[in-house]
Amino acid sequence: MKFYLPTKIYQEPDAVRKHSREMAVLGKKALIVTGRNSSSKNDSLKDVIQGLEHFQTAYLVFDRIEENPSVETVMEAAEIGRREGADFVIGIGGGSPMDAAKAIALMIQNRDSSSEVLYQDIPLKAVPVAEVPTTCGTGSEVTPYAILTRHDLQTKQSISHRIFPSLALVDGKYLASAPLSVITNTAIDALGHLLESYFHANATDYSRIFCQFGMEAWAAGAGILFGMEASPEDYQRMMYASSLAGIAISHTGTSLPHGLSYYLTYQKGIPHGKAVGLFLPAYLQLLPEEYEVQRLMALRSLGFGSLEQFDGFIREMLGSISLSEEELLALGESVLRNPSKLFTAPFEVTEEEIAMMCRYAAKA
Ligand code: NAP
Ligand code: FE
Repeated sequence: MKFYLPTKIYQEPDAVRKHSREMAVLGKKALIVTGRNSSSKNDSLKDVIQGLEHFQTAYLVFDRIEENPSVETVMEAAEIGRREGADFVIGIGGGSPMDAAKAIALMIQNRDSSSEVLYQDIPLKAVPVAEVPTTCGTGSEVTPYAILTRHDLQTKQSISHRIFPSLALVDGKYLASAPLSVITNTAIDALGHLLESYFHANATDYSRIFCQFGMEAWAAGAGILFGMEASPEDYQRMMYASSLAGIAISHTGTSLPHGLSYYLTYQKGIPHGKAVGLFLPAYLQLLPEEYEVQRLMALRSLGFGSLEQFDGFIREMLGSISLSEEELLALGESVLRNPSKLFTAPFEVTEEEIAMMCRYAAKA
């Protein structure tokens, strides 16, 4: 099939308030999953609770989802949800709570299963999920992916099951109170999704259309990253770019920068968007000659005149990181051990080229 997106998306100011009926009728009792602080401060949690209360839908809140959520946290929240009789899940926050919501929904539905089923290739269903994003990066509100930290393997890994949210309520206003570092890191994650999807072995005209519009929305909102005074429309644009990028990767998946990022996040604690962004200029540099025109067009849509200018932007926003020779080797190994990621690039990738991407990130 060329295109599949079963998530109903409402993207507009006050989306939660305007469409809370559709959220409230997903079940009889909601398990709301969110992080420790931000959703209370930016009013997203309050908006969701008011919506549920208005339609007299019962709920309970689990507010201990950490960044890069672990399998252990997912199992703990699912156990509480099962015990309390929750029959749908609402994720509020960045990619961490939204991804966790999908995995928790799977474990609530499959109440007698152990955490091993998260990574088994067997067909399983999940209870319905609604998502309310508050960062402009992952697009998890529209993707079927849930990436969890696996302490047993010392890395992050996407669960085997594809769980599309039933409903995404998307409103850029929740970004207005976010620190610039959160906006920058997550906007660069969206940039990674747009570029990795555009130059992906699985890309089609369907996925590229979402990349194209996503890049233009990203460029229109990117003034925020340079400290310019942001208008409500800028936040909506960035959120829009992030959701369009999410739709694109739902179709294609991500590629080498994401594959390499997991090592940096797990081993060095580097936030997801930054860990991805550090590899992007080198990934674009590797594209063979026949992609030169497309690469320039993509960069122009994003507001960059050349690869050098893009490289300067990434360095200015993210700096570089310090890695020992041993760490550089382990970083390269982390994708070479996982050949499926290597085939996501639209060209053949050599070990030397992976090493070049790693050295670029560390500027070694
Ligand atoms: P995040 O890990 O969800 O959140 C990062 C930090 O930002 C947290 O401290 C959070 O605080 C805070 N925060 C969130 N929204 C905020 C707001 N509006 N204002 C102020 N602070 C806010 O960050 P993320 O980058 O969005 O998500 C990263 C995760 O998503 C990673 O695990 C990554 O692997 C995954 N991911 C998933 C997909 C997918 O397709 N599903 C794609 C890419 C990445 P609180 O903890 O207090 O909420
Ligand atoms: Fe990402």
